[in-house]
Amino acid sequence: MNHSYEGSCHCGSIGWTYRTSTAPPQWPVRSCQCSFCRRHAARCTSDPAGSVEFSVASRDALHRYRFGLQTAEFLMCKRCGVYIGAYAEGPGGRFATLNLNALKTPVDGIPAATPTFYDSEDRDGRIRRREQRWTPVAKPV
Ligand SMILES: [Zn+2]
Repeated sequence: MNHSYEGSCHCGSIGWTYRTSTAPPQWPVRSCQCSFCRRHAARCTSDPAGSVEFSVASRDALHRYRFGLQTAEFLMCKRCGVYIGAYAEGPGGRFATLNLNALKTPVDGIPAATPTFYDSEDRDGRIRRREQRWTPVAKPV
């Protein structure tokens, strides 16, 4: 059965609805150790069999931050500074990983995050990993 979970930035300008049939204790939770995610203490999850829809109440507030290989957009709120998740769009489709720190209400049973390192990936490898592991995004952000 599909359950849905809501996340948003602090001021509510941007957010997401995540649908997955996986129970929270089985969620993969990754704390990417790149210089961006480390600074946000990001804890991200995704489900290739799930779906996510982003909501943008205020276009002015959406900041699409890119760095490094420029293959994804890190969605942040310009008003309150919260990082809600990363989005990638390409020939393979639209995919996202979600920052669980942005959950509107705490969810019981989420596992501790596993530190992850992706420095050794090249551009194609990175895109391929996201297409296989991230959550399909219903509508363009
Ligand atoms: Zn905000």
